[in-house]
Amino acid sequence: MTDVDVVIGGGGMVGMSLAIALARGGMSVAVADPLPQAAVLDDRFDGRVSALSYAAVRMFEALGIWPRLAADAQPIRDILVTDGRLDGPPSPFSLHFDAAEIGVEALGQIAENRHIRAALFATAETLPNLRVIQGAALENLEPQAARIAATLSNGEHIDAQLAVAADGRDSPMRELMELQVVSWSYPQVGIVATVEHEKPHKGVAYEHFLPSGPFAILPMTGNRSSLVWTERADIAAAMLALDEAGFNAEIARRFGKHLGATEAAGPRWSYPLKFHLARSFVAPRFALAGDSAHGIHPIAGQGLNLGLKDVAALAEVVLDAAQLGLDFGGLDTLRKYERWRRFDSLALSLATDGLNRLFSNDIAPVRLLRDLGLGIADAIGPARRFFMRHAGGDIGKLPRLMKGEAA
Ligand SMILES: Cc1cc2nc3c(=O)[nH]c(=O)nc-3n(C[C@H](O)[C@H](O)[C@H](O)COP(=O)(O)OP(=O)(O)OC[C@H]3O[C@@H](n4cnc5c(N)ncnc54)[C@H](O)[C@@H]3O)c2cc1C
Repeated sequence: MTDVDVVIGGGGMVGMSLAIALARGGMSVAVADPLPQAAVLDDRFDGRVSALSYAAVRMFEALGIWPRLAADAQPIRDILVTDGRLDGPPSPFSLHFDAAEIGVEALGQIAENRHIRAALFATAETLPNLRVIQGAALENLEPQAARIAATLSNGEHIDAQLAVAADGRDSPMRELMELQVVSWSYPQVGIVATVEHEKPHKGVAYEHFLPSGPFAILPMTGNRSSLVWTERADIAAAMLALDEAGFNAEIARRFGKHLGATEAAGPRWSYPLKFHLARSFVAPRFALAGDSAHGIHPIAGQGLNLGLKDVAALAEVVLDAAQLGLDFGGLDTLRKYERWRRFDSLALSLATDGLNRLFSNDIAPVRLLRDLGLGIADAIGPARRFFMRHAGGDIGKLPRLMKGEAA
């Protein structure tokens, strides 16, 4: 039997970030994941990139993760949003966000998920009070009055004051603790591919709203961009089955000509898209964080950012309680975290769901209204700046880590 302050189930980007935040705050932490690190660092495991908000980057700086990631990240200098059509003239309205307008160097940073994971694992290795257990799942949790007992699939038992599930959208721990979710599936699939292009992207991210769903082009290091192409499920299946030439032609048709010739490099990935939100984020001695608590449409590239905000808020609430000598795994403490994070998660989840419904169609009056909306938002400085701060994760009550301070 091992004794720690906090045991975390799930060593993905959220679980590892939380483990590092708590360990940096002086807690003893164990984090277990069934997948070995070598498997998740392989470039055939996850083809996605993440658009990290600048508040998330400040948190990675405060936790000493950023120096291990900076060289592999691409700053987003501008974002251009357009309402497009596959065939026919593009809408004359567009929305343009420029980092300089709100006095920041970058609106965020794009990093490949495998690089984020590598930076997290390397940081964790420097923390003697953080134990990373590879190749073992959390199988059972038994809350008691003052502790919670965790059983791992390798037969190990861990006793902690708090257990956190950062075990992803299907969260076995959330099921075990009987926390209910509201959920629905989108009739869309997220196609992801890395695309090499002739001309430099100059740090510009593009979001083209096409009738089947948003088509995002996210700048990566070099002359490369990551494509996050939301497509109707039936069309997506046909696109994924195309040969190389056919797939490249479909990409070029949607990309436009601004980056010159384009070519998909490496594998194509596809992700079924689903919405879910846990009705409660906490139970006695137990909390959810990241995708175990919420899963949103990738239209605004905010899913991981939302999870990282959970990390910052949970670390702050738990470390503050511990410093005051309070029970940091008790429901009084955990409810503070839930009050802080559940409403914000609900608001962003519904906003992204609404945006997807508004833009993923070709109904003429709706198209007219949304185009006018884009034009108006582009013309009004305060509205533009509000959206930029939103994308940067710099609104609402920010946890200390997201201001760049210690947790
Ligand atoms: C197409 C697409 C594009 C996206 N783009 C962006 C973006 O640009 N920006 C952004 O912010 N977000 C983006 N997201 C969302 C983002 O990828 C997720 O929100 C994020 O990966 C969630 O991380 P997580 O650590 O919570 O969960 P996961 O990455 O799912 O990690 C969960 C971990 O838990 C482990 N696990 C499972 N069961 C157990 C168990 N019983 N015990 C222990 N461990 C267990 C798993 O092995 C896994 O390692 C995108 C999502 C999609 C689908």
